[in-house]
Amino acid sequence: MNELDTPTYRLAVAQFDQAAEALNLDPNLRQRLKLPQRSLIVSIPVRMDNGTVEVFTGYRVQHDSSRGPSKGGIRYHPDVNLGEVAALAMWMTWKCALAGLPYGGAKGGVKVAPKKLSRSELQRLTRRYAAEIFPLIGPDKDVPAPDVGTDAQVMAWIMDTYSQQVGYAVQGVVTGKPLSIGGSLGREEATGRGVVYVTMEALRHLKMDIERTTVAIQGFGNVGSNTALIMQEVGAKVVAVSDVSGGIYNAKGLDVPELLRRYRTNGQTLRDTKMGDFLTNEELLQLDCTVLVPAALSEQISEKNAAKLRCRILAEGANGPTTLEADRILIDKGIFIIPDILANSGGVIVSYFEWVQDAQRFFWKAKDIQERLHEIITNAFHRTLSFALAKKTTMRMAALMSGIDKVAQAHLQRGLYP
Ligand code: NAD
Repeated sequence: MNELDTPTYRLAVAQFDQAAEALNLDPNLRQRLKLPQRSLIVSIPVRMDNGTVEVFTGYRVQHDSSRGPSKGGIRYHPDVNLGEVAALAMWMTWKCALAGLPYGGAKGGVKVAPKKLSRSELQRLTRRYAAEIFPLIGPDKDVPAPDVGTDAQVMAWIMDTYSQQVGYAVQGVVTGKPLSIGGSLGREEATGRGVVYVTMEALRHLKMDIERTTVAIQGFGNVGSNTALIMQEVGAKVVAVSDVSGGIYNAKGLDVPELLRRYRTNGQTLRDTKMGDFLTNEELLQLDCTVLVPAALSEQISEKNAAKLRCRILAEGANGPTTLEADRILIDKGIFIIPDILANSGGVIVSYFEWVQDAQRFFWKAKDIQERLHEIITNAFHRTLSFALAKKTTMRMAALMSGIDKVAQAHLQRGLYP
């Protein structure tokens, strides 16, 4: 399928091939799991505020549903394409299996620059997209969530559009919703919190002290900003953050709550906040720091810059931030990598809690959510670490192999239909 053949999809397949080889995976399963189960491409006509109609392209890809309904975010970004969405869906399958969640993987996206739309255009686009993918989604079928360029408001519009079609409120059709319509406490910060929890386990494993840890974060959206806040809460020093416009560096440590206040409330760029020296995204990645957290887009660390990285731990908040070639370079440099499907799984873990709470119509306290997230993600970290040490392999390979093996077991036990 030519439309799948993009750099991000090639990366996901190359990772899968390596893990499948190491697992000696059944060749029939390999053929199946390399491809999505279902891919839907939709045209989304939207009446713009000036009266014209623009047609956007959207996607929803379900990679696998052998272990339960498929689950995965929706991305609004001008570079969205079928191959990227399919790669992200595949990673979701391994991520859910690795964390032991009863889900398969999916992903969706619309090729659009959301910041260029007015709020009402964004709402019309979202509602029409939701109506077009309506046949695929549902609380028992496929459950979307926020990703790059989407948020709780977008999820609320999808929940409402779906509910209007069926005639009653269906809270469990999406996660990452506002609290007023069945969202969960702790969901917004969940991915960042998970990044911090696994980083703390990695520091413990490497016998390093959180109080002497410096952190640089690329991307200051949902994942990046919450990682920064919680890193500071647990005692680490956040020395640099960036967004698409570049970043700031402060060797003494940034005051993250104050930075966020200026960034969000006053609508300043990171540079405008004057809380640190300006630096480019490339310079941020090459900073001398304990922990580097890529929390923006994929393939940011490639063979071009991998040799220049100076962190001790790479905690992959983003999906697919490291290319295959870069991965080899980082391993040779002795950088401890917490791979994406483990490091950023806090989001889908708390999404799972949200879906369970919606199904039960019974909502949990923030403390319960944090404790359960901590238990699931730190267990996943230690299982992966033990596997990696026992098999003398990398954390990435260990995480992929564990996830893929669970999915393979489900397929083999269910058998081939018909
Ligand atoms: P977001 O839209 O909230 O934030 C993205 C951030 O990246 C923004 O600060 C943006 O300015 C920055 N950015 C965009 N292009 C950039 C570039 N070229 N260079 C540097 N920075 C750039 O998105 P998010 O939800 O925080 O997601 C970030 C990453 O984390 C994505 O890879 C996403 O798939 C992954 N992820 C998100 C979640 C979640 O719960 N939101 C869960 C797991 C993984």
